[in-house]
Amino acid sequence: MSKFTLAEYLWLDGAVPTRFLRSKARVINAGKNPKIEDFPEWSFDGSSTLQAHGNDSDCLLQPVAYVTDPIRGEGNFIVMCEVNNPDGTPHESNSRAQLRDVLAAGADKHEPWFGFEQEYTLFSKGRRTPLGWPDHGFPAPQGPYYCGVGADEAFGREVAEAHAEACIEAGIMYYGLNAEVMPGQWEFQIGFRGDTSENSGALAMTDQTWIARWLLYRIAEEFEISATLDNKPVKGDWNGAGMHTNFSTKDTRDKAKGKAAIDAAVKALGNKHAEHIAVYGAGLGERLTGDHETCAIGTFKVGNADRGCSIRIPAPVAAKGYGYFEDRRPGANADPYLVAARLCATVAGLDEAIMKFNSWPRKNAKFAIAAE
Ligand code: ADP
Ligand code: MN
Ligand code: MN
Ligand code: MN
Repeated sequence: MSKFTLAEYLWLDGAVPTRFLRSKARVINAGKNPKIEDFPEWSFDGSSTLQAHGNDSDCLLQPVAYVTDPIRGEGNFIVMCEVNNPDGTPHESNSRAQLRDVLAAGADKHEPWFGFEQEYTLFSKGRRTPLGWPDHGFPAPQGPYYCGVGADEAFGREVAEAHAEACIEAGIMYYGLNAEVMPGQWEFQIGFRGDTSENSGALAMTDQTWIARWLLYRIAEEFEISATLDNKPVKGDWNGAGMHTNFSTKDTRDKAKGKAAIDAAVKALGNKHAEHIAVYGAGLGERLTGDHETCAIGTFKVGNADRGCSIRIPAPVAAKGYGYFEDRRPGANADPYLVAARLCATVAGLDEAIMKFNSWPRKNAKFAIAAE
């Protein structure tokens, strides 16, 4: 076996209003258990990704996390990267740097853990209706599809299953999967699995959610299917797609302090509703209507086991009095780095000045806005 293998470098582009993943691969000689420092810095043409102008187009890729590549196999890697300017400072599109800043400014002390529920919708190549939908008209109304089984209810299971296998093989903290309410829609979760020896921290879970998204697109390719994270892929009386974000801190998980800590966190969130909505994904108003298991975008509501709330306290958590809560507002197309940064900043009570990424594109963005 050659000592040379491939590393697929992933990064987020500068597209507006929703960034997408880009990737390219290079040959490396990093051995079986490399350190992140063993992956060289690299660069790319930022003028092709809405991150630079053509006359000064180099952006830097800084490897920050990696997993085994389950597609190319053992010895090959998928490497998440931050995008930096030529001088090494974070590029204006680098939302992971925002999360690092928030953690370093004090949020890290709270030991925040995350669990993301990523919903997505599958489309056959070239078709405009989701998988399993008729050419004309609509499928039978929603009802049986959520967690359904059978060829008349579950569409695209081969993709969801292949994705699950790949994530587990990669060593991602994959938690589970289910068919969703709208036909052709599925969900996978990344996050705390009940094993405290695993790292459920903010950077690990957000990096892994992005890598799992890339694997979803990549694996669906093999089936000539495309996955979309659109918030509302079908207008009308059909469920949208979200990225419910489950969150806990050292104190919310504490038997004695849990209830008070959850109450305090939720109160802080209520005071910053608009700031959260601003970074919870493009076109969120189409999804957060107050119907289809959502709370209307202009309202902030908390409830136990209530899926029409902004924040849901899961029934077992309410019963025990400690644990985590679920923020149901983020859209499927939200950036996990920004959702995590926002939740950490609010719950830790950090000064708002830390949130340079209070919208996307960022105010004063040079490249994202200039691009047509
Ligand atoms: P739902 O009932 O809303 O569909 P899921 O079963 O799909 O919930 O997902 C549960 C999510 O909660 C998972 O991502 C899991 O990792 C996360 N989770 C569980 N416990 C914690 C915790 N203590 N802190 C943060 N996230 C958690
Ligand atoms: Mn779920
Ligand atoms: Mn769901
Ligand atoms: Mn949920």
